[in-house]
Amino acid sequence: MPIRDADLLGHGNRGYRVWHYDLELAYKPSTGRLSGVATVSAVAEEALSAFALDLGPFTVDRLTVDGKPARWTHRGGKLRVRIGAPVPRGSLFSVELRYAGRPAPIRTRHWGEVGWDELTDGALVASQPVGAPSWFPCNDTVSGKATFRIGLTVPSDYAVLVTGVLTERSSSGSTTRWEYVQDAPTACYLATVQIGRYESETLADGQYAAVPRSLLRSFRHDFGRQPSMMALFTDLFGPYPFAEYAVVVTEDELEVPVEAQGLSIFGANHVDGRRGFERLVAHELAHQWFGNSVGLADWRHIWLNEGFAAYAEWLWSERSGGRPAAVLAAVARSHLAGEPQDLVIGDPPARDMFDDRVYQRGALTLHALRESVGDRAFFAILAEWTETYRHATASTDDFVAVAQRHTGTDLRPLFDAWLFAAPLP
Ligand SMILES: [Zn+2]
Repeated sequence: MPIRDADLLGHGNRGYRVWHYDLELAYKPSTGRLSGVATVSAVAEEALSAFALDLGPFTVDRLTVDGKPARWTHRGGKLRVRIGAPVPRGSLFSVELRYAGRPAPIRTRHWGEVGWDELTDGALVASQPVGAPSWFPCNDTVSGKATFRIGLTVPSDYAVLVTGVLTERSSSGSTTRWEYVQDAPTACYLATVQIGRYESETLADGQYAAVPRSLLRSFRHDFGRQPSMMALFTDLFGPYPFAEYAVVVTEDELEVPVEAQGLSIFGANHVDGRRGFERLVAHELAHQWFGNSVGLADWRHIWLNEGFAAYAEWLWSERSGGRPAAVLAAVARSHLAGEPQDLVIGDPPARDMFDDRVYQRGALTLHALRESVGDRAFFAILAEWTETYRHATASTDDFVAVAQRHTGTDLRPLFDAWLFAAPLP
């Protein structure tokens, strides 16, 4: 059983698979208005005479399918399109639509507000798990991955960071158009836009940052070891999966940092000039392998993202002169022993998907595996995992299979005890 559909707000649609999103947008921070044209390129997985896209409360006008006007309705977050001449199974088709409105985050029952959000001076997008339709029409599933080209025009005094590599920047009058291309397959929730008055900073080759001027000094100290982290993770987890890695620090405070494809977003409160949040720098970077490159077949496998990113925090600590993973594991274990033991982290209910116990016990699961098979086999399993499912999606069963194939031992009892039973082993 997947995570209950009602909790995902009915996002995701059948009958087709998107392979590319092309967005040409303009945004005015002063009014919060977003407008533009989206072209969604897809392949029909069955003969299609109608299909739906997820899209928030924008005004849509002029919608075409393969260049021909089509009829549509738009309510309840669903844009339902009727096609005059049905698209045969296996055929490519593209939908183009013009839309405009003031994007607002999507309210969820368990995960707060997600998606496009206005900052005091700018905007950010943090969509995990169902925020993507707050700013573009999409097939909003965790397992659907597509490439992106996004052009965004804003007033020239703002900096823009978008998922992907900056391919063009040109100014005319008082506005500047930024164009980013993401060639790596990307889940909708990991597509992001960051707009603000940022200074740009380079931490290392291919590692960039956008930071408010007032935080630059502290930032340079707090993120100073990120290049070493990148080197360590590349060594342990395999090649960095994307062309670049960017970090954005917003002038506003954020509850938690958030990962996007090739980019992570931190709040001003995560920069203290004392490396007080360095474990989160490691956590977000690790998501580029675990969650972003190796994606989820379904949200119920969320421990594959969060448990791995949490364990990467411990690995960074161990390898950078901090407490070893074994000590951090013991601390986490005694903490969890005092928490309610009623959560099956291998199949959590929607409300507990981002519960701290998923993170901590997920990390403990990996530590238990490491202790059981030894360091050599453990790190070989991690490397095989990121290589086998690079830019794809996977499930818990897939991970168990990789671990078992690698060690030739029956690891099911270990995983069952840690992932599929509520009491702490
Ligand atoms: Zn995380």
